[in-house]
Amino acid sequence: MTPPHALLSVRHLSKSYGGRRVLDAIDLDVAEHEVVALIGPSGSGKSTLLRCLNLQEDLDDGQIVLDGRDISDPRVNPDVARRSMGVVFQAFNLFPHMTVLDNITLASRVVHGVARADAEEQAHALLGRVGLADKAAAYPDRLSGGQQQRVAIARALAHRPRLLLFDEITSALDPELVGEVLALVRDLAAAGSTIVMATHEMGFAKQVADQVCFLDEGRLIEQGPPARVLGDPGHPRTRQFLSRII
Ligand code: ADP
Ligand code: MG
Repeated sequence: MTPPHALLSVRHLSKSYGGRRVLDAIDLDVAEHEVVALIGPSGSGKSTLLRCLNLQEDLDDGQIVLDGRDISDPRVNPDVARRSMGVVFQAFNLFPHMTVLDNITLASRVVHGVARADAEEQAHALLGRVGLADKAAAYPDRLSGGQQQRVAIARALAHRPRLLLFDEITSALDPELVGEVLALVRDLAAAGSTIVMATHEMGFAKQVADQVCFLDEGRLIEQGPPARVLGDPGHPRTRQFLSRII
């Protein structure tokens, strides 16, 4: 069998803050169309890993290859590399003074030079896709947290990223709103998006992820299919973590 195309290859990625190592020699391969769930205790390095992948942090060591290109090479312009990625964070990070439509089209228009009419046509299509076709003219504070995250996802999709990076995008939501955002992530996965997501939603990881990666103190301790990592973990730290949260 031909192995699936590795869209993302991370090798030996290490990162320290003030001499303290928060990511320690991370190796990770993500195939195209794969969903990878990053799990682990608070402070284990999930967000830092996602920020490193998005080139928001300088790496101490290691390599990030996206679509065959070493984007960690200092000669690569991080702004250009970032255009291949769509990022959504935990906290709602929409611009409060802009309509939903403007939030989605801003980067296309300003950064990518897309004509307003084209950007808006695409944004309306994206809003349809995230189930918010009627909210184009609304301001973020008129939306529920779940709707705001769906807009943030629509915005992340606007430049047709090759890779989606989601950092605990349901953690700040009221429990009754988590489902609608996870349903959207499930739709994206079914449509073939490649996703790396930090999450505490173990049920979701079990159902939707192709790979689960358990991080602890900056090390990727265990990775594999969810049935194994979540159902029959090999490492005592993984077992301990799961026993505390499930
Ligand atoms: P997680 O997302 O798994 O909770 P983080 O990646 O946020 O973990 O944090 C990993 C470790 O790095 C933590 O000990 C955190 O305090 C530390 N850390 C994260 N960001 C910074 C920063 N900008 N400066 C200093 N330390 C940081
Ligand atoms: Mg985090």
